[in-house]
Amino acid sequence: MTNIDTLYDKVVLKNPGEKEFHQAVKEVLDSLKPAIEKHPEFSKAKVLERIVEPERQLMFRVPWTDDNGEIHVNRGFRVQFNSAIGPYKGGLRFHPSVNLGIIKFLGFEQVFKNSLTGLPMGGGKGGSDFDPKGKSDLEVMRFCQSFMQELFRHIGPDTDVPAGDIGVGGREIGYLYGQYRRIRNEFTGVLTGKGIEWGGSLIRPEATGYGCTYFVEEMLKDRGTDFKGKIVTVSGSGNVSQYTTEKVNQLGGKVVTLSDSAGYIYDPDGVSGEKFDYFLELKQKRRGRIKEYAEKYNVDFFPNKRPWEVKCDIAMPSATQNEIDAKDAQTLVDNGVIAVGEGANMPSTLEAIDIFIKAGVSFGPAKAANAGGVSTSGLEMSQNSLRLGWTREEVDQRLHEIMVNIYKNSRAAAIKYGAPGNLVVGSNIAGFIKVARAMMAQGIY
Ligand code: NDP
Repeated sequence: MTNIDTLYDKVVLKNPGEKEFHQAVKEVLDSLKPAIEKHPEFSKAKVLERIVEPERQLMFRVPWTDDNGEIHVNRGFRVQFNSAIGPYKGGLRFHPSVNLGIIKFLGFEQVFKNSLTGLPMGGGKGGSDFDPKGKSDLEVMRFCQSFMQELFRHIGPDTDVPAGDIGVGGREIGYLYGQYRRIRNEFTGVLTGKGIEWGGSLIRPEATGYGCTYFVEEMLKDRGTDFKGKIVTVSGSGNVSQYTTEKVNQLGGKVVTLSDSAGYIYDPDGVSGEKFDYFLELKQKRRGRIKEYAEKYNVDFFPNKRPWEVKCDIAMPSATQNEIDAKDAQTLVDNGVIAVGEGANMPSTLEAIDIFIKAGVSFGPAKAANAGGVSTSGLEMSQNSLRLGWTREEVDQRLHEIMVNIYKNSRAAAIKYGAPGNLVVGSNIAGFIKVARAMMAQGIY
């Protein structure tokens, strides 16, 4: 039988310095132990040894010119992790912290997440250490064009279909798509998150935040409760945070915090109504900082802090990886948190997850709770193939059904493999089994 601890040590040795990748592999491998015991055929076929190694990893130079004519050079990445159940699918992240280890952790997670959605999508991820913050539209455009000038040869609607992530929203997808179309002379569904006038899907911008909220709603149902009257802390103020806030408001909860890398705001009356509209306008149109919300509505801003010290019923981390450590988790538990829904990818450290699970908090891990974004990207791919556009209600209903199914499947797998209530174990096993079977059926690759 594959020895999980030995395999993990090998991954660390072979991928030095990639600490986020090590962390993601450890979480998955540890929770797969019961599945590996039950299925000796996976060990014989060395499925785990193969699944931790990306099928292909690309790194490339991205030169671009700023508005003053100065030349800059960034690094581009695309890691095509696993295509056993469909074309590689996963976002592009533009952020100065991006390195190969971060892209690999995101790509690895994406393999299991995409499998969980029930749609035919493999896993991949990409991006660059380029920082769009403070750049003009034309600088962002020149960067995106240069990035696509290399990426185009590695992607395609049946090969690899990137989407957005941190720092990559509708504007960036537009510039990337324009350049792909120009080089290939093809109008195809090669990217998702496109504008609604040129092949995009309704609800795609909202999907990750709405989906995560639907997932938490299911966890709450199992505890015999719902969002009504609950105090919710949200971190981040980007795409996922915005639509998490909107859906929580619709379901009767109250979002009292938002943040960015400079600190968090605390609005005890809730970010709703006119204040929510201002928040959207601030982030989507003016690309401003969350501190301006505090100045406008005379609420507190806590510089360089994270919102987990605020007492809440539900926490929905929606900014970035490792934003909840063991100390934050303990504070949340001591303050009576009953549910945590991970909108961001890997926002809780392994120690933090342990604290939540031991305390009996309903914990929705990222690869299940935030799978609404990629699910709706999958729906965008279907609409592109069919040359059809579904209504808002239709897409939202499908998204809702997918999130309920992900919850049910993760919950059932946790029970079947001896860890009832542990959705980390459940979602990892449920996502893994399908990919493992597909890999076995397709021979040694
Ligand atoms: P955005 O770029 O729209 O927003 C990111 C937000 O997180 C910003 O408020 C940003 O603040 C904050 N943030 C980013 N890095 C840091 C950091 N190192 N420390 C503190 N705050 C930080 O990204 P998204 O909302 O799209 O993504 C947020 C998370 O959700 C990511 O983990 C992403 O992988 C995940 N996700 C996104 C999906 C999607 O569909 N967009 C799908 C599934 C997961 P600042 O402006 O100061 O940088």
